[in-house]
Amino acid sequence: MCRHLAWLGEPVSVASLVLEPSSGLLVQSYAPRRQKHGLMNADGWGVGFFDGGVPRRWRSAAPLWGDASFASVAPALSSGCVVAAVRSATVGMPIEASASAPFSDGTWLLSHNGIVDRAVLPAARHTESTNDSALLAALIFDRDMEALADTITGVAADDPNARLNIVAGNGSRLLATTWGDTLSVLRRDDGVVLASEPYDDDPGWQEIPDRHLVEVENSRVHLTPLRGS
Ligand code: GLN
Repeated sequence: MCRHLAWLGEPVSVASLVLEPSSGLLVQSYAPRRQKHGLMNADGWGVGFFDGGVPRRWRSAAPLWGDASFASVAPALSSGCVVAAVRSATVGMPIEASASAPFSDGTWLLSHNGIVDRAVLPAARHTESTNDSALLAALIFDRDMEALADTITGVAADDPNARLNIVAGNGSRLLATTWGDTLSVLRRDDGVVLASEPYDDDPGWQEIPDRHLVEVENSRVHLTPLRGS
């Protein structure tokens, strides 16, 4: 399992979202507070952000806490749309940079927090790695992001044990799902954060109920229940 985060709002530094918060992804990589599956997230990390309309990514198979180069550069990277994750690989999955979220189709950046039986996933084009999250991301992109709710409920029907929390951004929108794990939202004056767990003790964090689709646009947050079949 992993921990992930998405930002949509005014341009802010990647460091201010990922490294500086008292319980941000950096701290969550070794001491997550609400993680139910796995003790730490040491099997890689990834940060994606939009630069104009272009998604750019920096991913690694090593622990986030050991990356002095990223820590040095992250304060200088600013964006109005960021998707970031720290990874705890499921047993048997490859540990390589291309297996770390965010995955991308060139338009969206997408992270999966969870687990899914790879045998139930139909083959998709352009898989970045062979881990379940990369295969699921490729399937979601193949089916179209606008069909995210249907793709998630369809996969859940085929694998009732799957946990399918997604966060994704395209520069002007965020889409997310809760299916089996936690997700919280923080509405700030300058934008909206979605995160597997609150990155600080701000009382404004609100937990999103399980089995929901989340859409964020123009600082509005819209929730829709997902129906299992
Ligand atoms: N199943 C995921 C993997 O091994 C676990 C990490 C996560 O929650 N995305 O890639």
